[in-house]
Amino acid sequence: MLAIKTVQQRYAPNQDTLRLLEQFRQMLNDCIQIGVSENISGLKALSLKAYKQLAEHDAMSYYKLCAISAAAGVLRNYRKTVRRGGKAGGPYARRLRLTTCYGFKVQDGCLLLPHLPREPIRIPLTPHIQATIAGHMVRSVTLTRDKLSLAYAKHVSEVRPRGFMGLDCNLNNVTLATTDGSVLKHNLSKVTRIKSAYREVRSHIKRNDVRIRRQVASKYGRKQREKVKQILHRASKLIVNEAKRRHFGVVMENLIGMRRLYRRGNGQGRLYRSRMNSWSYAELQRQIEYKARWEGLPVIYVRPHGTSAKCSTCGSRMARIPEENRTLKCPRCGFTVDRDVNAARNILARGVRFAPIALPTEAMVQEPPVRRAGNPESRWERVNPLSHEPTS
Ligand SMILES: [Zn+2]
Repeated sequence: MLAIKTVQQRYAPNQDTLRLLEQFRQMLNDCIQIGVSENISGLKALSLKAYKQLAEHDAMSYYKLCAISAAAGVLRNYRKTVRRGGKAGGPYARRLRLTTCYGFKVQDGCLLLPHLPREPIRIPLTPHIQATIAGHMVRSVTLTRDKLSLAYAKHVSEVRPRGFMGLDCNLNNVTLATTDGSVLKHNLSKVTRIKSAYREVRSHIKRNDVRIRRQVASKYGRKQREKVKQILHRASKLIVNEAKRRHFGVVMENLIGMRRLYRRGNGQGRLYRSRMNSWSYAELQRQIEYKARWEGLPVIYVRPHGTSAKCSTCGSRMARIPEENRTLKCPRCGFTVDRDVNAARNILARGVRFAPIALPTEAMVQEPPVRRAGNPESRWERVNPLSHEPTS
């Protein structure tokens, strides 16, 4: 199995690089236009149609092939949007962005991109990026006006899991339930707080010039994204380390399409929609998935329907306890449980249904979390919301 990660650095492009980026953008737009007018999005069909037309660009064939495959990606997404009844304006690449998987080399601390014969474009790599990719295969290079990112890969052999952990990703926490009966919660309320603080700040930007307003807002947006990303990276690292330590596979909900639940006209408030739509589950899941795969741990996605409503012990519909809004009680078997833990246990059960591992439904044993003194990253919150009361 091939596991892939990416690493990024800033760089200052020279004239040749800028020309190459601009040329790539034009080729990409040419391909997109051909794809839209001929109604094709398959890579092969597009190559046949577009390659000849790209002859007018004096670019190396490496970049032509990459422009075609980038266009195929754009066209695939465009088709999907049209199918779902989205906006019909044809796609167009405005930003400078080049991805290539052919012809480049990493040599003497530099990235060499093919340009003129025997005269490649040289971009010096930072020591951090050099150390990160050392010993791995570099699969592709992506350049923008000021950033360079390398995708690198290694072969991993899949770990035979000794158990699984189900993850319930919420607005304010990630809750994890494992096949050996432990339950852990990682607090993410800081993400929600940062987002609402920035939303507040942005709503107070009062400049008459719309361009300045946009500029300021996008600066805050960038800052917010970076902060949130860092918090999510800490969380995903913690979760994957835990899985690695116990040789556990990871089970998550397949939440694709979630955004459609919170669109205008669905009868929800604006603030509620904005909160639900800024929920970073996709980024968190993406991080957990690639980090887990990098360690050879299996990642399973399950269907999300009903994971929070059903009793994770007997499967009946759970009822809320009026005074405690985060606790649920099963009217049939009396199982009383934190609602996130219940969801995590349901997700776990769905994932291991076909795995040869038994899920403990009773006698949940709490395993103490690992704590390394002084390490703020190992901040697991202990939860003990599981009690099994017989109904009277
Ligand atoms: Zn029950």
